[in-house]
Formats: sequence, C-alpha cells, structure tokens
Amino acid sequence: MTIGDLRPDDGVVVIVFQEVGKSTKLLGTLEPGDSILDFIGPLGRASEIEKFGTVVCIGGGVGTPEIFPVARALKQAGNQVISIIGFRNKDLILMEPEMRSASDELIVATDDGSNGNKGFVTDMLQKVIDRGTKVDRVFAVGPVIMMKMVSKLTEPHKIPTVVSLNPIMLDATGMCGVCRVDVGGETKLACVDGPEFDGHKVDFDLLMQRLRVYLPEEKRSLELFEAGNAKGCSCGKGGCRG
Ligand code: NAD
Repeated sequence: MTIGDLRPDDGVVVIVFQEVGKSTKLLGTLEPGDSILDFIGPLGRASEIEKFGTVVCIGGGVGTPEIFPVARALKQAGNQVISIIGFRNKDLILMEPEMRSASDELIVATDDGSNGNKGFVTDMLQKVIDRGTKVDRVFAVGPVIMMKMVSKLTEPHKIPTVVSLNPIMLDATGMCGVCRVDVGGETKLACVDGPEFDGHKVDFDLLMQRLRVYLPEEKRSLELFEAGNAKGCSCGKGGCRG
C-alpha cells in the first residue's frame, strides 16, 4: 500500500494498493462514497529534497507510486531526474505517464521483457552507470530485495542511496517498536526516524526476516476472511467486516 500523490489544494491523498491480504482486500470492497474510520498523517520525516545534480529514482512494482512525488519534487528542485521503474510484466506497469512527466528520462523494464525491455531495475541502473552518466544520488522504493540489490550496486561507486523502508508498522508514532530496523548498527524506528534511510547502512536481511514474522497469522486471517465471503455476508459488499 503506497501513498501515490498529494493534492493539498483539494484535500486529496491518492493511495495505490494491491489486494494481497485481509486488510487490502477489505479496502478493495469500498465503493465511491464509502469511508474508513481514520486516516492520519503526515508521519515520520519528509524526503530530503535538494539540488543534488543527477538523480536516479527507482520504483519497483507497487513501490512505484511512492517514488512519483519524490521524483517530481526532485525535478522541481532543479535536478536532472532519470527514473527507472520495473514490473514483472507489461500488464502490471503502473503510473508510466506520471513518471514520464516527473522525469527527464524514463526507463521502464519488465522481468519477462513483455514491454520490449527485459531486466530488473538493477540491470537498467547498471546500464546508466556503464554509459558514463555521473549519478549523484539514487532514491529507491520497492521490494526489500530490490532495495538491497540497488544499494549493493551503488556502494562500490560511492553513490549515496536512499531507500524507503516498509517494515510492519502498528501505531506509526514511535510507541510500539514493531517497525524497528537496524541502520549502521543502530536501532531506528522506521515510523519516526524514517521511512528513508541510507541504503548502504541498512540490514536488509534482518528486515526481510522481520517482515515474515506474522506470515502464519496473516495467512489464517485471509483464510477466515475468504471463508466468511464464501458464506455470504450481511454487509452486502462481498467483504465481511464483522
Ligand atoms: P515485484 O516483486 O513485482 O518487483 C518489482 C520490481 O522490483 C521487479 O520488476 C524488478 O525490477 C525489481 N526486483 C525484484 N526483485 C529484484 C531483485 N532480486 N533484484 C533486483 N531487482 C529486483 O514487486 P511487487 O509485487 O509489485 O511488490 C512490491 C513490493 O514493494 C512489495 O514487497 C511491497 O511491500 C513493497 N513496497 C515497498 C514500499 C516501500 O516503502 N519500500 C512501498 C510500497 C510497496
């Protein structure tokens, strides 16, 4: 689930989500005019936007909407913005026009090559570096493994790399400690100290391990939700909220 855009003038926050578990499937049952109880923010620290020079903004899959406002702000700050977005196949490509408008150059890649440009986002970044473009900073949002591989690629080139971490988060105000991550040997809370951190210091393996902690419960919750749906529910929206 990703915040994809903010339009303060008309009070709109755009959220892009993929239905993978109970909560996102419930969100998917909403119809125009429906509401959810609470929506809070902004939380955490804002992205560091400055004129760095040439920046590469990388979005992987559902992480792409989140890189869009970052790329747009970096371009507005006078940076040369090269964006790389990657998806499993061409049917999953998201926000291409928006990313094009926010970038001086946009590279869209698919894992299976179905859009005519095969490879991971890291393959595309490698090509940008190999062609001699001097990259001053990289921003990456997407699956943890992608952010890990991007950071591994940029480290020997000494390119500062900012990653946006998505650990399991409960209150998002620094009280529960669930979203703790290890950055350079220090414990940080992604909700208040982040979500953006120096990718060269993040312990990605620990993050991946912690993201899997509640998998059995998440699976059970989804099964119960889908079993409730199969029986039919009184709300009439195909999603039992009871
Ligand atoms: P996905 O698995 O389809 O991967 C998207 C792209 O990431 C791929 O097309 C590829 O280019 C790249 N990638 C994947 N594995 C890679 C590897 N081993 N090496 C290099 N590049 C690799 O992504 P999805 O199914 O759309 O899932 C999106 C993920 O993004 C979810 O895990 C979600 O939790 C995460 N996400 C993170 C944030 C965040 O703040 N970090 C925000 C939204 C979503």
